[in-house]
Amino acid sequence: MLQLKNIYKSYITGGSRQIALDGINLKFRESEFVTVLGPSGSGKTTFLNIIGGLERCDKGDLIINGKSTKEFTDSNWDFYRNNNIGFIFKNYNLIPHLSILENVTIAVSFNGLSKKEKQEKAIEALNRVGIKDYMRKTSQYLTKDEMQRVAIARLLLKPCELILADEPTGSLDIKNREIVVKLLKNMQEQGKTIIVVSHDPFFEAIADNVIDLSANIK
Ligand code: ADP
Ligand code: MG
Repeated sequence: MLQLKNIYKSYITGGSRQIALDGINLKFRESEFVTVLGPSGSGKTTFLNIIGGLERCDKGDLIINGKSTKEFTDSNWDFYRNNNIGFIFKNYNLIPHLSILENVTIAVSFNGLSKKEKQEKAIEALNRVGIKDYMRKTSQYLTKDEMQRVAIARLLLKPCELILADEPTGSLDIKNREIVVKLLKNMQEQGKTIIVVSHDPFFEAIADNVIDLSANIK
């Protein structure tokens, strides 16, 4: 479903070039669970950003469902991001002055639902991540652990075939880590492909494929 062909990405800062990805070749299958490892600075976040269409590579090609993205326009990329990808990133993108429930309800993108039906779906997702009891709390007062779980509730509501997660259990205690691992495993069982950047041994244990980026940057 997705192929990376010789992907190269570098950044220039203060006149010097930093290579982030140096010729990555990989293929992902449908409903595959992939765990990505590597020390800080080895290109893990850049890797997810390129796969998710948030950044462009300098050289190489990302092949989506057999199609090269070399000629993709901005609107092709927007369509891809909006319809194919579910993200859990480190800056959880919550609107601070809205409640948890409001933040999750606005993420419900199924058309043709009334506001009340959208809210019911949001409540159901919050229940699955154990947040239902305080869903009226304003988002700016949440702990990192709560924000991470709200981000996962939103992901549960997004129609997508590929899930990209950057350290999704980094701030969670053991009980909530297990919940999130199970939810992601469950999404894989629904046919989605999951790519998780994480050093959590839970993810290594359930992965079909473990990619180690430590050799990417010498
Ligand atoms: P990781 O997620 O594994 O810690 P990153 O993908 O964030 O690694 O970064 C890989 C390398 O690219 C690092 O050396 C980092 O400093 C550099 N880098 C990442 N993003 C940028 C950017 N926007 N501008 C400049 N350098 C960047
Ligand atoms: Mg990172």
